[in-house]
Parts: sequence; structure tokens; C-alpha cells
Amino acid sequence: MFRIRRIHDEVSPANKAALAQIAAIMHSRFSPAPAEEIDQFGRHLHNPFLKSFRTILFIAENMRQRVMGFAYLLHEPRIRFCYLDWIATEVDTSGGGIGGALYDRVRQEAAALDAMGLFFECLPDEAALCPDDVLRTDNRKRMRFYEKYGARPIVGTAYEKPYRPDQNCLPHLMFDGLGRFEKPERIFLRKVVRAILEHKYAGYAAPDYIRMVVDSIGPGPVTLREHRYVKPSTVSTVIVTRPAGRIALVFHDRHAVHHIHERGYVESPVRVRSILREISAHPLFEIVPAKAFPTRFLESVHDADFIAFLRHACAELKDDRLVYPYVFPIRNKTRPPRDRFLLAGYFCIDTFTPISRHAYAAARKAVDCALTAAQELVNGRRLAYALVRPPGHHAERRAFGGFCYFNNNAIAARFLGQYGRVAILDIDYHHGNGQQDIFYDKRDVLTVSIHCDPSHAYPYFSGFRDELGEGEGEGFNLNLPLPEKTDGPRYRSALSSALRRIRAFCPDFLVVALGLDTAKDDPTGSWSLTGRDFELNGRLIGELGTPVLVVQEGGYRTRTLGVTARHFFEGLAAAPIRRPAIGTRDLAPHNNSHRVIFDRATKAAR
Ligand SMILES: [Zn+2]
Repeated sequence: MFRIRRIHDEVSPANKAALAQIAAIMHSRFSPAPAEEIDQFGRHLHNPFLKSFRTILFIAENMRQRVMGFAYLLHEPRIRFCYLDWIATEVDTSGGGIGGALYDRVRQEAAALDAMGLFFECLPDEAALCPDDVLRTDNRKRMRFYEKYGARPIVGTAYEKPYRPDQNCLPHLMFDGLGRFEKPERIFLRKVVRAILEHKYAGYAAPDYIRMVVDSIGPGPVTLREHRYVKPSTVSTVIVTRPAGRIALVFHDRHAVHHIHERGYVESPVRVRSILREISAHPLFEIVPAKAFPTRFLESVHDADFIAFLRHACAELKDDRLVYPYVFPIRNKTRPPRDRFLLAGYFCIDTFTPISRHAYAAARKAVDCALTAAQELVNGRRLAYALVRPPGHHAERRAFGGFCYFNNNAIAARFLGQYGRVAILDIDYHHGNGQQDIFYDKRDVLTVSIHCDPSHAYPYFSGFRDELGEGEGEGFNLNLPLPEKTDGPRYRSALSSALRRIRAFCPDFLVVALGLDTAKDDPTGSWSLTGRDFELNGRLIGELGTPVLVVQEGGYRTRTLGVTARHFFEGLAAAPIRRPAIGTRDLAPHNNSHRVIFDRATKAAR
């Protein structure tokens, strides 16, 4: 089992570890290993235009985060081509489809970037150019592999010509038309070759050599070598992609054990059921079963004594007994009461969120769903939805409340933070005080919340505009409170401000805390957003082009919850996958087809 993952930066822990493993693969595969190149991988991620190319790095890793191979792709957005600089697997990975999966992913990325072809180098398989038998056998294997995709050497140019008399075995320039182009057009090819030699081989290839190679692309049509290893009829140039908009839908039936049968307790199991009824069979969604995650993921945002308290307090309760917090020892936090149920007030922000026998189990399952959905994004999916209850966005580092016990979206954000930068956008009617509290003094997760002014709405004590974060987190919390009466257009103007701030933060992942209680006639809200508004809001968020994890928060008008959710997701998925503007990052959907090879794009001693 392995997944293909994009490495966005060289700073987050998982990515740092991956880069070290890539260096190890380079050292084991290439002798002598190109130390300067290895060193550049991380720096290029940091500054993607360092060599006039935008750099994109994919790894194949197993579930224990061992890197089994990688592909390093260059993108030239002005000339519109991609160049596969390196593709390599571990020495002891024989087959297993890793090389093929990486190459598939690279082709898919190149196509998503609208490249007019994927270029790379491949060492020659002809005896005249490569006298070494062993090397030539290897080269043939590579050529055979690429030929299956229709990729072949461009012939009739001086690209293979040595520029020093002692050189031999210089690589062919290969062309993969990505299922769209049979061969490169002449003028385009001249630009491509010039860009490769000038930028990639800067300092190695002399100007007159470059001119000679470019001029060798004569007036006649460009030709690719005839097929040598595979019958043309068996070539498949099709780019395998997952259905672009399929959203991973993760939920767990165990949420229903948490059922507070009291009048006015609107946070009930029917909420999830009414959403599922509307979307579970919808072609936009693909159901993904929830996996169990250990407690340490909760501890990444909640204090251990708070988690332990909830676990024990729930376990001690008889079936239908409820304990509501009733004493709040706010004057002396250093003296927590001994009695378990007195402690409820010590760890709670209000008087209407009870402890029940099953609250802990249900809340744990919600966390599992959020983490499973987050994992889907890490695996390369663009959109995932954790349809959970109890909700989480009012749960703080060491406090529950507002129907929430554990902060699902914050836990997922912490998890995603191992792989890149994360922003949380809370679009529930109520302020997302939980993640604000958790990340208030941190700058690695941007927290943004659009909600009803806390002078009128729960949680009343937080969500004001002047709460900006503190310490190194100052400037990384944004609250956009709106009036008690707010309609779609007014809302969208705040949403646009929120998205501007998020865009400037340049996240690799966006977590959306989705409250549907902003909808018209919600029993806990006062706004008037319609289905159409939800669709437009979803679309605006989708247009960020960032992979999005949606985590369910509030929303209590059960008659219309499903339709409202559907509108939101239809908008979110409909947003076009934007081609990345210069300087921004992107992540196209990925595929996982399997084929057997290992390979490298050579970088000969040009
Ligand atoms: Zn709410």
C-alpha cells in the first residue's frame, strides 16, 4: 500500500523527513550522487521559481511515511511545457507499481497545468550511442516503459550531440503528448529546448552550443522515433484521473448513540440522517469508511486532563442520566474540584451542554471521521466532507460547550499541518471560539470566522473584531462579526474579505467548519441565507483552488438541512480547478493506477 503525495514545503515535519529520504534514495541510486541537485529540492519548494521553472515534487510513501520513490517535475508556464527532471524509486523496490503511479501522477499534473507536452531525458538504447551493454539493457527497459504511454525520443536534432569530445551516451529528449498532442510543433520545440538548456543546464552549456542545438531543429516537421518496443495499437495515452469532483464523504453510525432526549436540545441524530438522505447517493460523493485514530491526535489540541475527565465522567454515568455543569470555579482555576460532576463546570463554558454516557464515544467517532477525511486530502483528493456530530467548533483546548466536546476541525487542521500550511474558515452562524482559543498564539494555522455579532449570539464572550491573536499568533486570527439581520449579499461581502485573507496566507489545505445554521429559519440563527446563497458561497470557497476539508458544525432546521448542504457542495465542486497563478500553489486531483516499473529521468553529464 502506498500513496502519492505532493510535498509543498521543506519545513513541516513530515515533509522534512520525506526530503531526507529523497536524498537517501538519490545517494543509493546515482553514483556519484549530484549533491548540488539534492540540496536544491527543498530550496526550490521554498522559492519555486529559482531556476525559471516552477517545481513540483511528488513522493510515493507507505502508510508509515517511508518514501519509496519520488518525481521532481518542472513547469514552464509561459512556454507551457513540463519537464520531468527526476523520477526514482528505492533500490529494493522491485515493481509494486510505484514508478508507474508516479509517472501517471506526473502526466496528470502536466495535463492539469495545460502543458502542451511533457519532456524528459532518457539515456540512449542504441549501441552506437551507448556502448555499455548493461547500461543499454537498462535503457531499453525505460524506453519500453515510456513507449507504452506513446512517449518517444525526438529524432533528427542535435540534442544528443556531445559538447565535449570525451562525452558519450548523452540522453535523448523524449516527448509525451499527454494524449493530446501527437508531436511537438517546431517553433514550440525550439523554445522548449532553449529553455531547458539555458535554465536547467545554466552554467554547463555554452551559448554557441545552445544555438547549435536549437538551430538543428530545422524547417521540416518534428519527428518522433518509430515505436520500437510496443505495438502502436497497444499504446495508451489516456490520462487516468479520478472523477474530478468526487467528494470523500466520511460519517459514522455511532454518532446516534449520543442522543439527548430533552426539549430544546436541537443537536440530535436526525441532523446527520437528513443530510445523508439528500447526498449519500448523489454522484458528487464517494463514501469512505471512517478509520480509528489514537488519542494522541486529540492531545495535539486538547489538554490530557480534559480528555481524561470527559472519558471518565461519561463512563461513570448510567444510561440516561445527564450531568449539566452547575458550578463554575472561575475564581480559582488552580483548585479543580475533586468531585467528577462538579468538575463539569470546571471544564465547560455553558450550562446547556450535558455529559452523557455516550458523549465521549460519539465525540471520538466524530474525530475519527474528521481525521479520515483529512487523510483523504493528504492522499491527494481535492475535497472531503466529515459529516459529524457532535460538532466541535466551540470546544476549546480545555473546555467543552455549545453541544461540542472535541474540536474536530482543529484536530484535523493539526493533522494536516504535518504536511503543509493550513487555514480554518468557520462559516457557522456562531463564532468558532474553539479553534480561536486553540491556535490563538500560533501562526502556523490561520483561523478565520464569519459569524453573528457576539453581542447578540452565542458564545457571547468571544468573536469580536479586535481579537487578532497574540504573541507570534498576532495577525493570524480574523473575526468577521455580522449584524443580527444578514442576507446573502451582505454575507458574501464578508466571505470575500475572509477569502482574501486566506489567499494571502497561501495555505496548502483549507478546513471549512460548515455551519448550516446561517440558513433562513434555523432555530438557533437569525439570518436569511437561501439555497442559492449556499451554492454561491461554496463556489467562492472552491475557487481558492486549495484542497478543502469540510467538517460539519451546526445547522438545526432538519427539514432543509440536506438540501442546504447539497447546494453548498454543488457550488464547492463546481468551482473550476484554476490553473495556478505564478507564485501560488496548487494541488490537482490524483490517481493511483498501478503499473510495474522503476525509472529515472536521467540527467546526464551535459
Ligand atoms: Zn452554530
